[in-house]
Amino acid sequence: MSEPFPVPSSSAVVAGVPPPVHPVLQALMRLVLGPAGRQRVRVSQTLLSLGVFLLFALILQMAVLLGLAAADRAFTLTAFSLSTAGGLYLLIRSGWNEVLHPPEPSLTLVQMVCAITEVCWAYAVLGEARGVVVVMLIVVLTFGMFVLRPGQARAMALLAGMELAVVMVLCNRSEPQRYPAEVEIIHAGIAVLALGAVAILTIRFGRLRRRLSDQREELRQALARIHEMATRDELTGLPNRRTLRERIGQFGAGLAPLSVALIDIDHFKRINDEHGHPIGDRALCHFARLAEDELRGSTDIVGRWGGEEFLLLLPETRPEQAHACVDRLRRRLMRHPLPGVSPVLVMSFSAGIGECRGAEDLDAVIERADQAMYRAKQAGRGRTELG
Ligand code: GH3
Ligand code: MG
Ligand code: MG
Repeated sequence: MSEPFPVPSSSAVVAGVPPPVHPVLQALMRLVLGPAGRQRVRVSQTLLSLGVFLLFALILQMAVLLGLAAADRAFTLTAFSLSTAGGLYLLIRSGWNEVLHPPEPSLTLVQMVCAITEVCWAYAVLGEARGVVVVMLIVVLTFGMFVLRPGQARAMALLAGMELAVVMVLCNRSEPQRYPAEVEIIHAGIAVLALGAVAILTIRFGRLRRRLSDQREELRQALARIHEMATRDELTGLPNRRTLRERIGQFGAGLAPLSVALIDIDHFKRINDEHGHPIGDRALCHFARLAEDELRGSTDIVGRWGGEEFLLLLPETRPEQAHACVDRLRRRLMRHPLPGVSPVLVMSFSAGIGECRGAEDLDAVIERADQAMYRAKQAGRGRTELG
């Protein structure tokens, strides 16, 4: 015997994953709602309002059958409301909303003005049953809760109140027996009360939304700052040791040959002593900019390994090519003394190069580069050694 109710598969229940949608249903949803994303939310919202107007049309027909409304008036209103709601659905489903009205592609204000007009119009059609119209106006204003700014929410509530007042006065003038003044005054009082309350709630909700969106933006900026602080060296703006380690891990063996160059500025202590620490800081930044400029931006990476030591990661580069690259950088550094410093501050550095061989541990490569750099220091500085 089959299960009385379909039971979702246990894996879907355990993982909290929604059960897969049948392909036919998926295709139908795509046809009616369009591709997933923001536009689909807009389309489904418009479809919802079309559904509400369809049900409202049924209620109008019931009012006609019960003798509460004239058939011709109900038909005109139904034709108008369904054609505007259907037209707006087609407009948004086709994507024309984004072309016609980019500042507010959901067209919420347009949809609300149409809906308010149709609901107020229904007040003139429904006769004794017209009290429901205030409920419908509240439904329409609720649609704006998720989109409208406080000023817009106020304007929509005001428009609804004014349109209803105009319809009430016109109905009372043209059919005083059907729309007596005493009943209209009570209806107007209830409408003011209900519309005012919904407007206040919508405005408060709008402010809450604004606060949430501001907080989200602050959080995004704070996360970006934290990410920057965690991955970049504060002084030079270059990737820091942690980022370099991560990048080394990402390179793995895939891009071999990978060469690593460890660079140590020569006699940097002396630069600090002779020119002062702030000039020493500027010298480090000066080197950082020249190195960034010298390297192939998309693949090579230069980062600050610590103090006056820098690390170059040169993927798809053999040690001899890395040697040439590092020497080019040194010549460039010597051609460009630190601007605005007297006496002239020309820097040089010693470098050691390590080559990554296959799936070798990269710490071992850096260690070899470090030893080669030490040999370059021993051999008189201002030179590059292969590890
Ligand atoms: P060698 O040629 O042997 O490398 O000599 P050196 O003077 O460069 O080496 P040493 O390691 O003795 O000194 C490095 C100096 O770099 C000492 C330290 O104060 C300085 N230093 C490290 N980090 C910074 C920094 O961020 N700013 C400044 N201004 N100086 C720094
Ligand atoms: Mg050093
Ligand atoms: Mg040094």
